[in-house]
Amino acid sequence: SGKFFVGGNWKCNGTKDSITKLVSDLNSTKLETDVDVVVSPPFVYLDQVTASLTGRIEVSAQNSWIGKGGAFTGEISVEQLKDIGCKWVILGHSERRHIIGEDDQFIGKKAAYALNEGLGVIACIGELLEEREAGKTFDVCFQQLKAFADVVPSWDNIVIAYEPVWAIGTGKVATPQQAQEVHVAVRDWLKKNVSEEVASKTRIIYGGSVNGSNCAELAKQEDIDGFLVGGASLKGPEFATIVNSVT
Ligand code: 13P
Repeated sequence: SGKFFVGGNWKCNGTKDSITKLVSDLNSTKLETDVDVVVSPPFVYLDQVTASLTGRIEVSAQNSWIGKGGAFTGEISVEQLKDIGCKWVILGHSERRHIIGEDDQFIGKKAAYALNEGLGVIACIGELLEEREAGKTFDVCFQQLKAFADVVPSWDNIVIAYEPVWAIGTGKVATPQQAQEVHVAVRDWLKKNVSEEVASKTRIIYGGSVNGSNCAELAKQEDIDGFLVGGASLKGPEFATIVNSVT
C-alpha cells in the first residue's frame, strides 16, 4: 500500500569526509524511480547533505524539539529543520526510547508539532526481546501506536516504522513471517482505531538488521511497504540494493 519507502538512518555515525563519500556514492547510483528515498544524517551534517544530494533523495532529521525554538539548550527546532530543507524527522526510535528515556507522551508531542508544521514523521514502534518472549509484542506496538494516534492532526504525512528492538544492530533480522505478522496487526489496528482509508494508505516499513541479502524476501511480504535501514545505509551500493528491492 502506497509507494515503497526506504529510509537510511545514519544514527550517530560519520565524519565530513565519510559523509562526502557516501553522498557522492548515492548521487552516482541508479535508484528505482518507484520508491521514496530518505536519508537521515546526524544534525551537524544535515545542511551539508541536503546541499550536496543531487537527485530526488530527501533528508530527515533523527529528532526534533517538541515546540517552537527558544531557550532550550542543545535542542533543534522543527522550524530550523525546515529552514535547511529537511522534509522528515524520525521520532520514537527505540534508541531514544530505551537509551535516552523518551516516553510515549513526549514522543507524541514532538510528532504532533512536527506534523502541524509540515514535516513528515517516520514514527517508530517496536518491542523488546523480553516483551516478545512474554507474548506482549502486539500490546507494546499498539500502545506506542495509540500514543501517536491520540495526538496527530492527520495521517497524511506519517510513515510507521516497525523496528523490533532485538533486531536492531544485532544481525538478527526478523523473519519475513515475523515482520509480516506485526505489519498486518498494525494495519488492522489502524483500521479499527483510525479509519479504513488510513489503514490502507499508510506505509508500514520494517527496520532491524535489513541488508542487501535479506531485503528481497522481506520486500515480497504484502504488508511490508519499505525499510528503515541502519548499518547498511552507511554503504552507498548496499543501500541502493535495498532501495531497489521494491517489488
Ligand atoms: P540496523 O539496520 O543497524 O539494525 O538499524 C536499524 C534501525 O534502527 C534503523 O532505524
